[in-house]
Amino acid sequence: MDNSAATAATAAEPAPADGFLLPVPDDDGAPFWAYAARGELRVQACADCGALRFPPRPCCPHCQSFASEWRRMSGRGRIWSYVLPHPPLLPAYAALAPYNAIVVELAEAPRIRLAGNLVSAPDAALNSVPPERLRIGAAVKVTFHEMADGVTVPRWLLERP
Ligand SMILES: [Zn+2]
Repeated sequence: MDNSAATAATAAEPAPADGFLLPVPDDDGAPFWAYAARGELRVQACADCGALRFPPRPCCPHCQSFASEWRRMSGRGRIWSYVLPHPPLLPAYAALAPYNAIVVELAEAPRIRLAGNLVSAPDAALNSVPPERLRIGAAVKVTFHEMADGVTVPRWLLERP
């Protein structure tokens, strides 16, 4: 049996870090992750009409321009929603359950919402914030965590821990 296609697909994806899933950037989203690795939260903006958009894509949905730039955000926002995942989960995640997955609306662009995790410190575990501390509307600020060599993801801290 020829399984070369499956082997190629596996080789193209980054290895999970200790069982955790890593982002797989595409061409449009690669700058988001490159800026994150520098500790900057940037969102794609139209270079013609200025509208912010997420997820990254080639064309502005407002004016159809293909010109874009990456605008630095303040890193502040609010919890728009959250869940507490419970098993069945992948083994690395099951060991930490219940942890949180949150959706953050950005202060500059409330219609742009980023999925992530609320943690007590940049490199703290996914379950480092007790579930009872989670509140929709709570003010948060971004931080960054290097999950693997060259792979940094935004995470979120409570403004008032
Ligand atoms: Zn535009």
